[in-house]
Amino acid sequence: MLGGTFDPVHLGHLRSAVEIREALGLDRVHMIPAAQPPLRGEPHITPEQRLALLRLGIGDTPGLIADARELERQGPSYSADTLVALRRECGPEARLVMALGHDAFLRLADWHAPERLFSLAHLVVVDRPDHDAALPAALAALIDGREASSVEALMREPAGGLLRLRLPSRMAISATEVRQRLVAGDSVRYLLPEAVEERIHAAGLYRR
Ligand code: ATP
Repeated sequence: MLGGTFDPVHLGHLRSAVEIREALGLDRVHMIPAAQPPLRGEPHITPEQRLALLRLGIGDTPGLIADARELERQGPSYSADTLVALRRECGPEARLVMALGHDAFLRLADWHAPERLFSLAHLVVVDRPDHDAALPAALAALIDGREASSVEALMREPAGGLLRLRLPSRMAISATEVRQRLVAGDSVRYLLPEAVEERIHAAGLYRR
């Protein structure tokens, strides 16, 4: 599972999803837009628009899935609820992984039911340029004793571990920067898949 606001999806998300899948040997990566992200302000476009851009961005990429399940629930989009549903589908033996960037990881202790996440899945933390702050004490306590030294060690169990991954591409792209460029009328070429860029321009999204 790679959750996010995807406001809008960009090549940092998509390339990370491909590289996470390869690094961990995963069957598939569910990219799941949060309908109502609990810890941040209202996204700039609707959940349906963000999902449509995600679908366009993924296109026919093998192993990546635009998963709409959080749009079908009411209330805040808690990852713990999403993992419960994925675990039910995959069964108790499957290795289930929640991947997130280091910036999102730094706030993990503030999430809804953070200990519960580890009973449902492994956490894989992806390095992100410009996001290398030290861990807050509550987070250090939360992950104490969970860190695995390798993919093989992590994947021996179905859930409960933590692995830090440095992906080959490490793209310094953020949705914030993409939105700022769109508002300013600057180019977003090669930050987004072309189909996503075209749809944004055609529909007049992210204009002030
Ligand atoms: P914003 O700038 O609006 O905060 P964002 O670019 O961080 O957005 P999100 O939708 O919040 O995008 O991110 C979803 C997940 O993808 C998070 O776990 C985030 O850390 C991760 N992520 C986002 N961009 C990158 C990137 N360039 N490289 C690796 N991981 C990323």
